[in-house]
Amino acid sequence: MNRTKQTLLSPGPINVTPAVSRGLTSEEICHREVEFEVLLRGVSGRLLEVAGLDATSHAAVVVTGSGSAANESVLSSVVPRGGRVLVISNGEFGERLAITSEIFQTTDSIRHGWNERIDLARVEEALSANHYDLVAMVHHETSSGRLNPVEAVAALCQKHNTQLFVDAVSSFSADELNLKAPGISFMTTSAGKALAAYPGVSVVIGRISAFDALENVRAHSQYLDLHRHYCKLRDKSQTPNTPAVPLFLALDAALVEVLTEGTDVRMARLRHFQRIVRKNLQLAGFTPLLSAAEPQSCLLTTAWIPDGVGYDALKAGLREEGYIVYGGKGEYEGRVIQVATLGTVDEAVLTRFFVALNKVMLKLHPGSALRSAI
Ligand SMILES: *Cc1c(COP(=O)(O)O)cnc(C)c1O
Repeated sequence: MNRTKQTLLSPGPINVTPAVSRGLTSEEICHREVEFEVLLRGVSGRLLEVAGLDATSHAAVVVTGSGSAANESVLSSVVPRGGRVLVISNGEFGERLAITSEIFQTTDSIRHGWNERIDLARVEEALSANHYDLVAMVHHETSSGRLNPVEAVAALCQKHNTQLFVDAVSSFSADELNLKAPGISFMTTSAGKALAAYPGVSVVIGRISAFDALENVRAHSQYLDLHRHYCKLRDKSQTPNTPAVPLFLALDAALVEVLTEGTDVRMARLRHFQRIVRKNLQLAGFTPLLSAAEPQSCLLTTAWIPDGVGYDALKAGLREEGYIVYGGKGEYEGRVIQVATLGTVDEAVLTRFFVALNKVMLKLHPGSALRSAI
């Protein structure tokens, strides 16, 4: 298909920087040679550095597979036979954690309405009523943009002597998350979201004590056995099976970029972009799902589409202009758009995007005025 390059305003895939795309094709290396071991040690060390963690207390395992592979690795490998998991959800990705966990073990859910605030009293009540081997929750619920109170839940887990697993697949490196908080054992992320590399490799960061404790747990998976991955990394700087080496190379380049920019500077930049997106979506007639006072991710904005405008026509109009936005999932399908600002997106891209959006809106919704606040 012959077409001009699309601007991806989704929370993954994204337009990667030249350094990341060069990384992908930089060299062919054999994964059973020292070159890969050096690469994996570099990736793993840089992941810890981005997380603000130390190799004496934590380890970063890289799994070939998208973010769900990392989640499934944790959920299939951490809980002993006969054990019990509590999943706290308030959207698509929390609900997916429950669906996955149910395959492997008894799973209770504290299910909130989509985009509802997590009710800590309900969490406390559940933890008091039962012993759980693991509690699982999403940090950034990508279906709504809401940030969930990980540290508060971690404190409850600590108090009730259980461990917390945080799905930070979309937020890691972009939204503040204190992984040193007592109670957090494991966290997952993916290369293809906030880290701004390609999809296809994912990450489990965990406490070394929590990884070591897996020695006595029989995993429900061979390929995704987390303890196997951890031991191979620790003992040999290797992966158990053939890793997607080019994706590791690209991820390494992306991590170098994150560290070069500095995580704090990067977070502030993304927060600035998100404010631009929020404001200009509002000016174009959209209503953000989350009020400005709610805790929300800096990497994307979810907004209701104005009455009288159809999602399909809006998406098609933007696509025609060269922009790919995301739609809603589940109960938001056809009713919201999501605009993310990762990879090579900058203020100039956003200015052009909002000109295009206003143009499309004028066509679909002739009452709307052509406005831009940038
Ligand atoms: C995208 C996402 C996932 C799933 O990741 P895949 O890479 O699509 O497998 C899981 N959790 C959250 C919060 C996500 O945003």
